[in-house]
Amino acid sequence: MKKQQSKLLVGNWKMHGRLASNAVLLHTLVQRAATLGPQVQLAVCVPYPYLAQAQTSLENTPIDYGVQDVSAYMHGAYTGEVSAPMVAEFGATLAIVGHSERRIFHSESSELVAVKAQRALEAGITPIICVGETLDERRAGQTDNVVYTQLSAVLNVLEKADVARLIIAYEPFWAIGTGRIPTAQQMQKVYTVIRTQLMAEVNVHVPLLYGGSLKPSNAQELFSQSEIDGALIGAASLSAIDFLAIAKAASTVLSENLDYFK
Ligand code: PEP
Repeated sequence: MKKQQSKLLVGNWKMHGRLASNAVLLHTLVQRAATLGPQVQLAVCVPYPYLAQAQTSLENTPIDYGVQDVSAYMHGAYTGEVSAPMVAEFGATLAIVGHSERRIFHSESSELVAVKAQRALEAGITPIICVGETLDERRAGQTDNVVYTQLSAVLNVLEKADVARLIIAYEPFWAIGTGRIPTAQQMQKVYTVIRTQLMAEVNVHVPLLYGGSLKPSNAQELFSQSEIDGALIGAASLSAIDFLAIAKAASTVLSENLDYFK
């Protein structure tokens, strides 16, 4: 068993929220974050209009915040786009890029995802690169190849020093919002593909998150897998009770690990 030091839990609010309910959620997270211990880092990725609210509520707290996408351009005539420097002005430190809902519903290619990651890094923002297969791809035995190819596009354009600043989230599309999660064995296989690729091509170690149908009831089992450095959490991050219960599960696993290594 690998000794683990910390877990990063990132809430992906997707297109949810209202000023009033966000205020309650953020306030509760701030109140309770300190009880989780320094090894559990919380963050939320909010819709753009709520970035100022996240800044007001979370600046000078231990909770990080960011967005769910950034433009591949820094500025210009790109109606509807929001650039990485714009979100950086609001103190955002994280940007999800290549979420499957963007790859699939907005036809984002892995090459575009790589450029978005570059733009985020240039603005001082940490990209959380999402990779993962569809159910058809898994059934066709293509999971490893899909994940490898998605990651390759990013590794092809980034310098090694920039790769070292990434966070990678394995999010199988078929697990998102469905209540289904991969078995430990399936996850282990994918994490091995990602780690091997990162070591072979750039020799760096970055945090690997898991995302898809994480709930308080399955969190502890999931976090017990030593390869997983944290999670990207959709629906459950909209409830302070559920998000904090998942964080508590991470904290429990970390303290059990520490006991084991005493
Ligand atoms: C996500 O979409 O990033 C996600 C993990 O969603 P959910 O937790 O709702 O499956």
